[in-house]
Amino acid sequence: MRVIPMSEKPHLNLVVIGHVDHGKSTTVGHILYRLGYVDPKKLAELEEEAKKKGKESFKYAWLLDNLKEERERGVTIDLSFMKFETKKYYFTIIDAPGHRDFVKNMITGASQADAAILVVSARKGEFEAGMSPEGQTREHLILAKTMGIEQIIVAVNKMDATEPPYSQERYKQVIDTLQKFMKGLGFDISKIPFIPISGWNGDNLIERSPAMPWYNGPTLVEALDNIQIPPKPIDKPLRIPIQAVYAISGIGTVPVGRVESGVLKKGDRIVFMPPAIVGEVRSIEMHHTQIEKAEPGDNIGFNVRGVTKTDIKRGDVAGHLTNPPTIAKEFTARLFIIWHPSAVTVGYTPVIHAHTASIAAKITELVSKLDPRTGKEAEKNPQFLKQGDTAIVKFQPIKQMVVEKFSEFPALGRFAMRDMGKTIGIGVITDVVPEQVQIK
Ligand code: GDP
Repeated sequence: MRVIPMSEKPHLNLVVIGHVDHGKSTTVGHILYRLGYVDPKKLAELEEEAKKKGKESFKYAWLLDNLKEERERGVTIDLSFMKFETKKYYFTIIDAPGHRDFVKNMITGASQADAAILVVSARKGEFEAGMSPEGQTREHLILAKTMGIEQIIVAVNKMDATEPPYSQERYKQVIDTLQKFMKGLGFDISKIPFIPISGWNGDNLIERSPAMPWYNGPTLVEALDNIQIPPKPIDKPLRIPIQAVYAISGIGTVPVGRVESGVLKKGDRIVFMPPAIVGEVRSIEMHHTQIEKAEPGDNIGFNVRGVTKTDIKRGDVAGHLTNPPTIAKEFTARLFIIWHPSAVTVGYTPVIHAHTASIAAKITELVSKLDPRTGKEAEKNPQFLKQGDTAIVKFQPIKQMVVEKFSEFPALGRFAMRDMGKTIGIGVITDVVPEQVQIK
């Protein structure tokens, strides 16, 4: 295992999505191997083991599972194994393929994906299964769109297993269907590469495949290097969702959180919402070092004068007085129902997980149901929503809660909706009715 130094390259978070068995683990395992992150001896061992069990075809997927297990046991490999470098970037795969609960992690987790690789099998029947009403190719694309992930790389996998192998005709058929669907969801498909690969044989992962001379687009790793870094929202108003609050003797109150937008400077007067309490920033610390100012993406602890530990808590949001975080009396969202045993109706009150806050909110209106293929209105004021539906819905938080419009503050405008210990749905906030509050 190569030890990976902290890279100076820009860092991007990547999710790998797609229908079960379409080759996510195999593709990622093979890329890590080809980029030199896996000891060839280790691979040979696994190959031997896999052969013995008559599952030679699982080699790379096994590799990934094996690495995952080793990580869980805390042996040999440190946490960085899911990180890799390309020419331009330093990537972290924020949810390992095979983790079926990527949805919840994507929304409520500390890390947000900058880009996604969608792995789609071109094998006869498999592609069609992924695009069926229950298919995860379809579902994951809707989720990615809902979460605001615009940069998607589509890997059309198992090209070695088309009929005949490496069939351009099959490739065209697959991407034609995908492009129509993605266009319907609102993706700009002119910016999305559709790369024919074999995660198993390695075609078009790093080097161009001689088996598909008809393809002249980028390889998978080239496409990763073509990802655009989203600009840091430093010109936007300050927003810091609070993760925790400490009272440190000799220093005072220290809230901790990640700057999502704007810039925080030493000496700034800031306000915490919903409590509407004002304080002055005495110092800012990142990675145990004092800094003068903090920017989007920085995880910081900062000492505030005029605020006690009991005044504020996790889920509150800090901002400047000139443009304080919004407390929502009511908000409207585009909601996707991932799972529900029966029906979601007006009056349903799940817990909303947005940024660091978890607060119950009641559905007050089902405004409309959307056509999953076009995203356009299909039904006004539906009686109920069921699993798989996308709808425009109004919510009323039962306690004061800060959220923002997704278009203005993406990190504060997306949420997961949970009930019965499961993720029921995910949403992005399209509108907020603010509550006017007196700043103390
Ligand atoms: P995941 O569930 O999406 O992570 O899929 P896996 O990576 O576990 O792969 C599922 C099955 O498809 C395994 O039997 C793999 O060996 C096989 N597979 C994956 N990629 C390819 C490929 O490029 N070609 C062929 N022929 N089989 C593949």
